[in-house]
Amino acid sequence: MTLSGKTAIITGSNSGIGLGIARELARAGVDVVLNSFTDREEDHALAKSLGAEFGVGARYVRADMSKGAECRALVEEAGGCDILVNNAGIQHVAPVEEFPVEKWEAILAINLSSAFHTTAAALPGMRKAGWGRIVNIASAHGLRASPFKSAYIAAKHGVVGLSKTVALETAGQGITCNAICPGYVLTPLVEAQIPDQMKVHDMDRETVIREVMLDRQPSREFATVEEIGGTTVFLCSDAAAQITGTTISVDGGWTAM
Ligand code: NAD
Repeated sequence: MTLSGKTAIITGSNSGIGLGIARELARAGVDVVLNSFTDREEDHALAKSLGAEFGVGARYVRADMSKGAECRALVEEAGGCDILVNNAGIQHVAPVEEFPVEKWEAILAINLSSAFHTTAAALPGMRKAGWGRIVNIASAHGLRASPFKSAYIAAKHGVVGLSKTVALETAGQGITCNAICPGYVLTPLVEAQIPDQMKVHDMDRETVIREVMLDRQPSREFATVEEIGGTTVFLCSDAAAQITGTTISVDGGWTAM
């Protein structure tokens, strides 16, 4: 399918899932705006090479998603967007009574509040155009809890609630808002944990992945960034025009249990 002529902003997209989503949107003909909080030559080069590979417009705009004003400025700098993908996210693991306050605040700001700010900034343009797609990257942890991830789980449950609310406020206006809930996805971040886990558990790579990392994912397989990107493209398609205010799990069966 083609989404030629549309523009997408993907927050937190210089690596991992965000970059995977940007690539799949570009493959579908979408002009993409990549983002992170850094402003390195390689960030701009990444956008340039992605644009050349798929023959679409692509640029990189620095904005720190922990700051509300910068979230709104990102949308302004992009000149609005047809597709908004709120993907930027961080994690910290600690028991609730020892959870560092600054980590709690950073996770709530980057994983949840950023989506509020970018959505508020993007909606007027989408309403004017009579078309828009907002795709929030939540998590299986937007639907289920695990110990020691209080801030992340609170934020991701919040993202699911925000998605439902925005869906109701935009219903019947050509705009949809949904949350994708991935299980474990093999990103560079997750890949980097495998050698340590192999050492700690004295297991080979395949056993660590199956028995330790994917113990809650019945398929015992990681989801891929291409699959999350493909799900995003589907949510932007005409076939998904009436899909709004819901979650789509891409988690190998985790939340079926
Ligand atoms: P990642 O670390 O590879 O990507 C996170 C992205 O967010 C990076 O591009 C990073 O630069 C950006 N980012 C971080 N802080 C930022 C800030 N202050 N301002 C702007 N950008 C910022 O991790 P990922 O695994 O690709 O995660 C992407 C999203 O998917 C996150 O929201 C994460 O919670 C969610 N998710 C990941 C998994 C998984 O297993 N990898 C599972 C479920 C949900």
